[in-house]
Amino acid sequence: MPKIVGIDLGTTNSVVAVVEGLEPTVITLAEGSRLCPSVVGFSRNGERLVGVLAKRQAVANPDRTVSSVKRKMGLSEYVSVASRDMRPQEISACILRKLKVDAEAYLGEPVNRAVITVPAYFTDSQRQATRDAGNIAGLEVVRILNEPTAAALAYGINAATAHTILVWDLGGGTFDVSILELSDGIYEVRATCGDNNLGGDDWDQAIVDWMADRFQEQNDIDLRKDRMAMQRLKEAAEKAKVELSALANTNINLPFLSVNAEGPVHLDLNLSRSRLEALCSHLLDRLVAPTLTALRDAGMKPADLDQILLVGGSTRMPAVQELVRRMFGRDAFPFTGLDPDEAVARGAAIQAGVLNAEVKGILLLDVTPMSLGIETTGGVVSHIIEKNTTLPTQGKQIFTTGVDGQTVVNIRVYQGESRKADTSKLLGNFQLSGIPRAPKGTAQIEVTFDVDANGIVQVSAIETGTGIQQDITIGANCAIPAEDLERLKREYSA
Ligand code: AMP
Repeated sequence: MPKIVGIDLGTTNSVVAVVEGLEPTVITLAEGSRLCPSVVGFSRNGERLVGVLAKRQAVANPDRTVSSVKRKMGLSEYVSVASRDMRPQEISACILRKLKVDAEAYLGEPVNRAVITVPAYFTDSQRQATRDAGNIAGLEVVRILNEPTAAALAYGINAATAHTILVWDLGGGTFDVSILELSDGIYEVRATCGDNNLGGDDWDQAIVDWMADRFQEQNDIDLRKDRMAMQRLKEAAEKAKVELSALANTNINLPFLSVNAEGPVHLDLNLSRSRLEALCSHLLDRLVAPTLTALRDAGMKPADLDQILLVGGSTRMPAVQELVRRMFGRDAFPFTGLDPDEAVARGAAIQAGVLNAEVKGILLLDVTPMSLGIETTGGVVSHIIEKNTTLPTQGKQIFTTGVDGQTVVNIRVYQGESRKADTSKLLGNFQLSGIPRAPKGTAQIEVTFDVDANGIVQVSAIETGTGIQQDITIGANCAIPAEDLERLKREYSA
């Protein structure tokens, strides 16, 4: 049976792993490293560069380089790079393509199927965009797996005795909290919550802003207008942040950062850990509410948890670990037995092994992260599937017309906890037409939501009197039309 690979498509780094002899192995890439920076670039002669090679030329070619594209997945906006407008899915596909090719070189056989991980709190559009990226890269995405669930699998926490664990996952761009119950090989997610726009990148940005402000005060030069200087600030900010996880102070020295009438101007600043923590205290605060929500939704108190697992590079920050200690009243250091950068890919490989019948005795029961519903009269959203429902799931509700003689209903599908349409995320809309004219409130329209094991939503509506039916797969706001998908597949398979 051909192998299915597991891929952690991260904001900062991506990793590919495969099960060999029942154990996951992280694949060493062509350049000799196991982490692939999630960076894509184009050289001046149009050559596509991915990973280390793209990251290396980022400072010299900021207009020709894209990083952290995961933060744009699921949006309909294009990313401008090397004078081209590219969809976020295409850029992610470049990363996936590289991982596929390197995995093929390692395994000595074609790799056509993958399990790809996403933050548990990813919306439907973001999940579909991830699946499209896989397709463009020539990979059938056999499962979209939630990152915290993957991490729990990788840590292989002995599920022989019943166990409740909380996975606290702060990566480069996203934050997830998941609470799982493990017993007899069953990994059952009880609740999940998070923030799709919170991660190490935000800490970096706070340092960049601080440096740009200091530089302007000292030299009266606005670096924000200089893309090359900003790229250097960004790299220096991340380096300083990482150093401050181990040191109390660090020096940031960037010679020849700009020029003025007297010649070159250099940046030379000291940053202390306490200053970094003050600059980023608002970010730290944002970690609290999703954690409390996940505990409340699972009906648990900190004392009910047997273990707290810290995952994602940003949990190495002392302030983050201190917050976990304050919230849970105990130590929650990252496990040392496994590299936290590789845990998610290892878990994805295990799930790939389960789907390929190589690994036995494991069952994952994941949940839908957000409630799903449709808009009814007055802009009110009626939830059909509540958050934290075990997947796959189906929900149905009967609606009716609001106006006499109404022959068409517009069905607007929303995701989120708000009961109001204007503060929920619109996933898509479709029309059911051909409803027989009748007084309002007569027609019976049955709306069905199906959410599969990947967390992807399908909605159908049927007018029960006539049997008229409409189906949609949600995600239309960022979906790639089928003919474009085929063209992109051909383009990126080259
Ligand atoms: P991940 O998405 O799990 O690969 O996490 C990547 C994020 O972790 C990036 O924002 C990194 O800058 C950050 N990171 C990695 N190592 C450290 C460290 N020692 N201290 C602080 N942040 C780190």
